[in-house]
Amino acid sequence: MLEEHQRRQDEVVAQKKSAKPVVVSSYAVVGGDSLWSIAGKFNLDINTLLGCNELKDPDRLPPGATLQIPNQDGIFYVFRKGDTLKKIADRFGIYEEAIWAANSMDRSSVLEVGKTTLFLPGTKPITVVQQAEGGKKDSISSPTKKAGGFVWPLQGRINSSFGWRRDPFSRRKDFHTGLDIKGTHGRPVGAAKAGTVVYAGWMGGYGRTVVINHGGGYTTLYGHCSKLLVSQGQKVEARKIIARCGSTGRSTGTHLHFEVRRNNVPINPRSVLR
Ligand SMILES: [Zn+2]
Repeated sequence: MLEEHQRRQDEVVAQKKSAKPVVVSSYAVVGGDSLWSIAGKFNLDINTLLGCNELKDPDRLPPGATLQIPNQDGIFYVFRKGDTLKKIADRFGIYEEAIWAANSMDRSSVLEVGKTTLFLPGTKPITVVQQAEGGKKDSISSPTKKAGGFVWPLQGRINSSFGWRRDPFSRRKDFHTGLDIKGTHGRPVGAAKAGTVVYAGWMGGYGRTVVINHGGGYTTLYGHCSKLLVSQGQKVEARKIIARCGSTGRSTGTHLHFEVRRNNVPINPRSVLR
């Protein structure tokens, strides 16, 4: 039994040390595309698209713009002064060997400051998410309606709040963009407010996910569901059952990851929940 356990542990580490060589294709944005729909189409995390492309306004992708689409989740990183692969790997919570494998490199490869671009497999960009709540200035557009009036999509204990936390996988400091509401498998998840379903499908680390647009710049996201009960384009009322609780995607247990975004910037759901 112990040997079996050890063997599994070794396998996990070996897997984390390996990566498939990165292949990047380009994608031309067409009308109606959103970062979410493109991420879903290529089965990638939104963070991958953000980390592989310099997007001025992720909320508005101009048709015709070209996005870099890698064949796996991760980000591009330009080698900086003082960097070593070990330091980069530690900062992003991955193994040096995985960086070599993804970039088809070995110990003899030359890394040039400011020139060498590395793909860091399985990572997310380390950025401070701008907290839009409470602020008056809204550079993108001002919500037409006053926020509020969102109802809880699921009743349950809050396993993880909005804000900085230790990532449950990498143990790195990570910004948690929503609330994790504990639930049991199959429990109904309700729409937090009336709106239109703009995404229903698999979304990278979020697993089976529903996104609802409520107008006025507000959207809500329901991640890690076991089953989706609505489809894209469908209009829903508040409390309408849209999905069932699960643990799909990058999840450590059965819960709902609930996100509220204003102009695509995650805000603290508690600031609009009643
Ligand atoms: Zn979460």
